Amino acid sequence: MILLGSTGSIGVNTLNIARKFNLNVEVLVAGRNIELLNQQIKEFKPKIVVIDQAKDIPLVCHNNVLFGEEAILQAIEQSSSKTVVNALVGFLGLRPTLKAIECGKKIALANKESLVAAGKFIDQKNLRPIDSEHFGLWYLLQDKKIDSMIITASGGSFRDYPLDELKNVSIKEALSHPNWSMGNKITIDSATMTNKMFELMEAAWLFDIRKLDAIIETKSLIHALINFKDGSTTAHIANASMQLPIAYAILGSCDEEILKPVDLVQIGNLEFRKIETSRYPIWEIKDEILNNLDLGVVLNAANEVAVAKFLKSEIGFLDISKISLNAINRFNSVKATSIDDVFQIDKEVRAYCES
Ligand code: NDP
Repeated sequence: MILLGSTGSIGVNTLNIARKFNLNVEVLVAGRNIELLNQQIKEFKPKIVVIDQAKDIPLVCHNNVLFGEEAILQAIEQSSSKTVVNALVGFLGLRPTLKAIECGKKIALANKESLVAAGKFIDQKNLRPIDSEHFGLWYLLQDKKIDSMIITASGGSFRDYPLDELKNVSIKEALSHPNWSMGNKITIDSATMTNKMFELMEAAWLFDIRKLDAIIETKSLIHALINFKDGSTTAHIANASMQLPIAYAILGSCDEEILKPVDLVQIGNLEFRKIETSRYPIWEIKDEILNNLDLGVVLNAANEVAVAKFLKSEIGFLDISKISLNAINRFNSVKATSIDDVFQIDKEVRAYCES
């Protein structure tokens, strides 16, 4: 496989699956964590390595190291592997997704920003999403009429904080997720509930359905539910680990034990909560977004700018959602008619939010 984002949370889990199933890794792409990358190179012996910056090349223990965005596309094009695992974070992942599709490769897609920003222009024929919620929905599908689909949210780092303290929370507190260990951006996106909005958009593209909602399940054991027309509801239950969705996205099917089954008696009880707009202001625009998926590129760009500002201590936690809502308000009539439009809109929204 070609693994983009090998040093991240999904990347490391993907290599756990590669190790377990003895899968060949032809290309490793990472950013700046050269120490971990070198360990991965030693174990998986890729033919090509791509990193973010030229200055780090001498530190990488490999004789075929490229750098930068163009090099990622080049590596996808030149490699013989049939599978690309895209675990890059952010809009940076979109071009590699498009390139993998153009090259006719199978794409195991963790980079949710690709579908959020450009779902309309992404051919899903060879695409398998890496996310517990979409994996759960897919697992529950059967040949019966569906009424609606529901995905679950953990509620993120501040689900139990007093509302009046949210204004002054620190970066460290925002990065302490109660149930999952993930990259910084998605951890902040979880805390604002923007991540769940992204997942609803992804589900809309993947399952061609708009009757979608999300609820909080505080233990992150139920990942998805389907309400069928006949009044039955089924739920996908699994321990919180990305290895199950990753294994399926790469292998197609799997009959070996990836995780231990959930012990419900030991769990004792589950708690469900509504997603309140008082705690998660972004939820105000849920219906607007689901009715107009073109807004995905706007929400994604605004959110990326805002999260980066928050992580640099330039704005407070509540300002993240304010920036996103403001951008949706300003750009609510955008329509992308081509993939070039997506890149153009992304640029305009970023410039607006930066200022
Ligand atoms: P991380 O931040 O942990 O990892 C991101 C990866 O991308 C790292 O390997 C990083 O390298 C690399 N990277 C960043 N910038 C560049 C660059 N300019 N050039 C090359 N590589 C770069 O993120 P996650 O693994 O948490 O998430 C990845 C994607 O998967 C996101 O889209 C996220 O929303 C999605 N996702 C994540 C889940 C999770 O459980 N973590 C669950 C479902 C989806 P380095 O660290 O070396 O700088």
